[in-house]
Amino acid sequence: MSALIRGIGTLLSLEGAWKKSGRFVQTEDLGLISKAALLMDQGRLLWVGPEKKLKSALANLPRQYQKVTREWDVQGKTVLPGWIDGHTHLVYGGQRWDEFELRCQGVSYQEIARQGGGILSTVKATRAATKQSLKEISQKRVDEFLRQGVTTLEIKSGYALDLKGEIKQLEVARSLEGPQIITTFLGAHAKPPEFETHESYLQFLSEKVLPQIQKKKLADRVDIFIEKNFFEGEMAKNYLRRAQDLGFSLVVHADQLSLSGGTQIAVELGALSADHVIQLGPVEIQRLAQSETVAMLLPLADLYMKCEYPPARELIDHGACVALATDYNPGSCPSMDLSLVGLLARLYMKMSLPEVIAAWTVGAAKALALRDRGSLLAGFRADLQVVDLDWRGLFYQTGTSPVTQAFVGGKSMPL
Ligand SMILES: [Zn+2]
Repeated sequence: MSALIRGIGTLLSLEGAWKKSGRFVQTEDLGLISKAALLMDQGRLLWVGPEKKLKSALANLPRQYQKVTREWDVQGKTVLPGWIDGHTHLVYGGQRWDEFELRCQGVSYQEIARQGGGILSTVKATRAATKQSLKEISQKRVDEFLRQGVTTLEIKSGYALDLKGEIKQLEVARSLEGPQIITTFLGAHAKPPEFETHESYLQFLSEKVLPQIQKKKLADRVDIFIEKNFFEGEMAKNYLRRAQDLGFSLVVHADQLSLSGGTQIAVELGALSADHVIQLGPVEIQRLAQSETVAMLLPLADLYMKCEYPPARELIDHGACVALATDYNPGSCPSMDLSLVGLLARLYMKMSLPEVIAAWTVGAAKALALRDRGSLLAGFRADLQVVDLDWRGLFYQTGTSPVTQAFVGGKSMPL
């Protein structure tokens, strides 16, 4: 038994980009197949190719797959891998729109924090929120990602900054439905007011929180916000080493506001990704590009924060594997618009359209250490999207989604 999608105008398999591990991506690496079809079973792709070869492909499959029991004709639409958003802070309580208005009127971040705004206002609201209310609001946000064709979605904790609340955030994240959810523990997001120093808070996380997260299997990944006068240097490194010893993979919020050593630490410790990576010098660009650590770029946050954009062109030309993500969060990026992220990458970071498409698929899969998606090849997960648009029209307009159907693990999802 198998399920068939036929009538595909153009299919993008991303085969070449996958084989090159997301480095030096060209148009031919998109794996364009016109008049295509694909077969899937049990959530996996069985075959992908030109529809005229469908009959012989079916005949060559093992007998149990030869009978097609479900069929979709997508009538000339485009099919490509589902998008993978590898960096969000989606589970949070409260809102920060009042402080955004203040910021737009020129009030400084320090003044906003003094008035009780900033990240600690989200911490307060997230701690106070019930699990059920967090779940309801978070599910609506996840649905919005799915509507845009996102089939794998990363979600970080980091808005409770205490044992109970961080566990609550991760449990809520794990309970969300639609795209496959990957959770990351970001207790080291900011220092909560109960702790005097950043060191003492990291010590608390190492001794009391990390072992619990591991025991309850709530996350496989540990992230940290490395910045001058926050978590930095040896204390950050020691914390990450402790996480590594417990079996966690590492991720770093690195060099967003200043060159503060986050990228160097990420590369040295073999982190899966270094995220933001804006304030890089030639040495950091070279080291990151030649490492296995993915450069995770978040230009929509840079738009909101009126920051510089990351040096994507230099990173890519030096051989980096690049991923794009929304960084969706209530403070520095309250938008979930993937199309705008891609548009900014094209307009301000000199990324080509094939590079943007590969960054949202192959690059993001690598950043999440997921070897079975990001590309439509036989044996991979059947995570894909059907779009009513020529692929050359992607990341060109914003605000509307061309996605008409999404499959997660071979299952057609209601959008
Ligand atoms: Zn972030």
